[in-house]
Amino acid sequence: MNQLIACCGINCENCEARMATLRNDDDMRREVAAKWSEMFQSPEITMESINCTGCRMEGVKFAHCENTCDIRKCVRSKGFATCADCSEIDSCTIIGPLFTAVPDARENLRTLIN
Ligand code: SF4
Ligand code: SF4
Repeated sequence: MNQLIACCGINCENCEARMATLRNDDDMRREVAAKWSEMFQSPEITMESINCTGCRMEGVKFAHCENTCDIRKCVRSKGFATCADCSEIDSCTIIGPLFTAVPDARENLRTLIN
């Protein structure tokens, strides 16, 4: 199973925060922090907070993904690896909005069970 597919189906392999972390690139961290703080209206996202190895990977995680993501919390509370393991996936109101915004996430989860 591809461990870089997050609990929600987002592909952490393509995440700029993960790339900046693996490269230990502070310029990239600064750019990602500026972009995400504006996009998510979250001034607390600073360059120092851009550190993540991936939702289901060992190692450091971006604070939102580790502490406040309701999807990840739900998956872990049920003992699943991802939402692909859940029979409620296509009626779930927790993950539904993400699938609308990021249709690839639903497709990525399908690849985990095919
Ligand atoms: S868990 Fe980390 S790598 Fe995955 S989307 Fe969130 S910040 Fe990016
Ligand atoms: S209830 Fe929703 S968020 Fe929770 S594991 Fe199932 S599909 Fe994922």
